[in-house]
Amino acid sequence: MTHSYSSALATLGEFGLISRISAAVFTHGSVITGIGDDAAVTTISKGMQLLTSTDMLLEDVHFRRSWHDPYRLGRKSLAVSISDIAAMGSLPRWALLSLAIPSDLSLDFIDDFMRGFLAMASENQVVLIGGDTCSSRSALVVSVTVMGEQYTDRIVRRSGAVPGDDIWVTGTLGDAALGLKLLESGETVSNELLTGLLDPEPRVPVALLLAEAGLATAMIDVSDGILADYGHIAEQSGVGGSIHIDNLPLSASFKQYTAGFSVIPYQLVLSGGEDYELCFTAHSTNREKIVDCAKKCGIDVTRIGIVTSCSGVAAVHRDGSSYIVQTDGFNHFK
Ligand code: ADP
Ligand code: MG
Repeated sequence: MTHSYSSALATLGEFGLISRISAAVFTHGSVITGIGDDAAVTTISKGMQLLTSTDMLLEDVHFRRSWHDPYRLGRKSLAVSISDIAAMGSLPRWALLSLAIPSDLSLDFIDDFMRGFLAMASENQVVLIGGDTCSSRSALVVSVTVMGEQYTDRIVRRSGAVPGDDIWVTGTLGDAALGLKLLESGETVSNELLTGLLDPEPRVPVALLLAEAGLATAMIDVSDGILADYGHIAEQSGVGGSIHIDNLPLSASFKQYTAGFSVIPYQLVLSGGEDYELCFTAHSTNREKIVDCAKKCGIDVTRIGIVTSCSGVAAVHRDGSSYIVQTDGFNHFK
């Protein structure tokens, strides 16, 4: 730490900060050695395999400090990686957190960020077992790795969709993209609409029920828009798909906000970003069981389309006419 940091953070120093983080961490029996040694030591449950996923969140690329309060930024930083483990039908168990901290970040910011991160962790029985802390000369960088576990035959991949399967999605789509658009244009946005963007909830319970019951043939979390993300399932399963846009589930706040529009901005729902809902495919004989699973978890699931044998993903209206898609999922390199 250099002297340009706030005095509280500079006094605390790197090791003081790590101790402060480790003092707030909850743990469980699988963690033999957590924060404080050169590496963490954990045990994997008998018969299970290890799953690992990592994500970077860069200030002004993935979030803005002026829009995202530190508490919800901390929650989301972990939620997005937990969501990846959930999308594999697996149990998130352990996390690593690496921070590059710019000199204008206050200790209060870090405390609030950590409160959010650790609240998300304990809500999902995830233990923070380590990480790295360094200074940044520019933006705040957050890198999170989550590890999970699952029995071999319960892990759900992107590659298992079969022509004729239903395509399902949990919750609602489009809030995050609409919320972001409104923030970017400087409009006031309701808190309900912003929850999807600033504080997404990883769909762990329903993912686990689906995996346990063997109901999902393929699954992915929606982080780049349903068209792009279902497109990954299609590609890796060697299938295509029709997405029925009139069936796409919209939240009450999305409907309320767009009520006066001449057309529903479906491109936001199809190609907008980070809803962190689950998109999965399943055999049509399992419809009732799937609805039951979702009910048990207190969430909605909606059938939004069908897996086809021809390649390519089409967005279609109820009458079969194709919806003209204007943009692809958020692409960092465009
Ligand atoms: P090393 O120099 O061996 O990499 P560090 O000083 O970076 O060790 O880390 C000391 C301990 O603190 C390690 O257990 C590491 O995993 C943990 N740690 C460092 N930064 C963080 C962080 N931001 N969150 C959680 N644990 C951290
Ligand atoms: Mg280190």
